[in-house]
Amino acid sequence: MYNLDGWAHVSSGKVRDLYVPQDPRGYGTGNVMLVVSSDRISAFDFVLPTPIPDKGKILNQLSLWWFHQLRDVVPNHVVSLDVPQEVEGRAIICRKLSMAPIECVARGYITGSGIVEYQATGEVCGVPLPAGLREADQLPEPIFTPAGKAAVGEHDENITFEETARRVGRAQAEALREVTLDVYARAVEIAAERGLIVADTKFEFGLADEARNPADLILADEVLTPDSSRYWAVDEWEPGRVQQSFDKQFVRDWLLSPASGWDRASDAPPPPLPDEIVEKTRERYLEAFRRLTGEDPKL
Ligand code: ATP
Ligand code: MG
Repeated sequence: MYNLDGWAHVSSGKVRDLYVPQDPRGYGTGNVMLVVSSDRISAFDFVLPTPIPDKGKILNQLSLWWFHQLRDVVPNHVVSLDVPQEVEGRAIICRKLSMAPIECVARGYITGSGIVEYQATGEVCGVPLPAGLREADQLPEPIFTPAGKAAVGEHDENITFEETARRVGRAQAEALREVTLDVYARAVEIAAERGLIVADTKFEFGLADEARNPADLILADEVLTPDSSRYWAVDEWEPGRVQQSFDKQFVRDWLLSPASGWDRASDAPPPPLPDEIVEKTRERYLEAFRRLTGEDPKL
């Protein structure tokens, strides 16, 4: 955590730390906050004891790149990059929104919690799917599979569109579904030009204080980072098996190997990562950034 002149820390998630201005009058745009992306990494629902150097900068700058790519599809929460020097490159000032309590997931491929549900019911979040889909198969068309935001420490739960409509109202539920699928479609095109599949991704949207319509959604949070999305290399995609995760592959493999001495079935927190795993993982985040943007992040 940083001690930032003019900003008061209000909360921290697994990866990001949120601050609000000590004197909000400095901003003409209404409520703002400072979101600082840390170098923390999570795996198997644990925040690991070893950070990945520069991860926060890489993912923050990737998110900004995506907000820019998507600016014609949806407005976003970014206000300014004029942040305290200590957090430069890893922080943004954004509009503080009333967040819809829904994780807006778009899936173009079947994997993760999607395939678990599909194998049990033939559906994901109430969306019926054709029979015979294998792990990592492409879906006939992308689907909206919302999840209810869970309390801290609990898993987000997949919910149906009808349940989403009950929670946020039909107008907002319809708007969430439409904008999620629109943004995903654009992202898929852009990633495909760079040899990457976006198998699935999660967006979060909110409403500004002055919003008059529950459908006036603003794209918030992080966008299309490896933490919120499953990226696969097109030339390595092979339906029928679980695909390697683009970023956390080395971390997960090492934690599950005998070398780590960690038992996933126990309640024990994972051990510190060896330098080699840290370095390889950092390289993967850099590679994702370079492949997408064609540039190096500012570190
Ligand atoms: P996890 O670490 O499991 O992802 P988290 O999503 O709660 O938990 P972070 O992602 O680390 O935590 O922190 C970001 C938090 O800020 C999220 O709760 C997100 O909903 C919230 N958030 C993002 N953008 C905005 C915004 N513009 N206005 C208000 N809240 C926002
Ligand atoms: Mg989050």
